[in-house]
Amino acid sequence: MEKDQAVLARLAEVKARLARAARDGGRDPEGVTLVCVTKTFGPDEIRPVLQAGERFFGENRVQEAMRKWPELRLAYPDIELHLIGPLQSNKAREAVEFFDVIETVDREKIAGALAQEIARSGRCPRLYVQVNTGSEPQKAGVVPEEADGFIAYCRTLGLEVSGLMCIPPHGEQASPHFALLNKIAARNGIATLSMGMSSDFEIAIELGATHVRIGSAIFGAR
Ligand SMILES: *Cc1c(COP(=O)(O)O)cnc(C)c1O
Repeated sequence: MEKDQAVLARLAEVKARLARAARDGGRDPEGVTLVCVTKTFGPDEIRPVLQAGERFFGENRVQEAMRKWPELRLAYPDIELHLIGPLQSNKAREAVEFFDVIETVDREKIAGALAQEIARSGRCPRLYVQVNTGSEPQKAGVVPEEADGFIAYCRTLGLEVSGLMCIPPHGEQASPHFALLNKIAARNGIATLSMGMSSDFEIAIELGATHVRIGSAIFGAR
């Protein structure tokens, strides 16, 4: 119970900061969606946030999400679940069946597997392309120079790219990465920008984020 109260207090604080950052930038707070990142946390820790009215959630592993979300979804059928972690093509079927938004489309093999599953199942989650704005070798995402070409490729497969997502390099100033993502989105006619996490969501909102993905600032350290 006390732990629930702490989570709810942090949630309220995050929402207040989100609204303030939006207003400071002359934007409507309603234009910024809070995606609560629940990886590593269980249904008992997630439930208070659902009870408080949050409906957008992010998970980074397909299997983990499929273990814990079915029972929560029965109670809250109107939630929207985002896959924010790397997707293997052998998990494309499950990802298409289970998620409402897949934020990590980043290579031709995945795009092809998703197109095939979408055609087969008739289910069509919204798709975002992940951009590796820092061109980090170990990080998922298409590098900036290849983003336009990859988005065009997805479109030739009949996939609608509705958003872009990025995770700036650790320990670097995030704002140039957010600005770059915004620029790539603008020139490709993409309106949704998933950027900003616990440590940098206000600056992301200032630079046009429509979705912020926040875990530890709400649920505590992992
Ligand atoms: C874990 C994670 C987040 C949330 O990070 P916090 O720092 O806990 O807010 C956001 N996006 C992705 C892709 C993540 O894996």
